[in-house]
Amino acid sequence: MADQPVRKALPGFRWEAVELLAYKAEGAAPFKDVTRQRLFASAELGCELRYFEVAAGGHSTLERHEHAHAVMILRGRGRCLVDGRVSAVGPHDLIHIPAWCWHQFRADAGEPLGFLCMVNAERDRPQLPTATDLDALKADPVVADFLGS
Ligand code: MN
Repeated sequence: MADQPVRKALPGFRWEAVELLAYKAEGAAPFKDVTRQRLFASAELGCELRYFEVAAGGHSTLERHEHAHAVMILRGRGRCLVDGRVSAVGPHDLIHIPAWCWHQFRADAGEPLGFLCMVNAERDRPQLPTATDLDALKADPVVADFLGS
């Protein structure tokens, strides 16, 4: 990818020469209605910039890992859970997800939630919550409501 210096934006939050990918392998981890596009991933960068889109009412995987994320919302509205705090987010908000923080994005009803996410090119695999982790997270009623239980 990235053979040409400029890849033009296309309608619908697509870009020239950027493939629309599944968020993760089906069944690898729980998520609902998410797509992924790798915008920048060349070897010399040391990082990758991806565009994720969560369909209305969908959500990313609840996970944590050693690598951090730097996120900018590009479209839609939703909520994110970062380190035990639930926040409403919308266009151009910036979200820093530090190492080892549980995190998840949920799109509001009616409109997709699209965001840029920068990560290290080399990174550890995400961990999923155990039942004990989930119980600890849900001890906060705001987080329990966010997680939908
Ligand atoms: Mn993550």
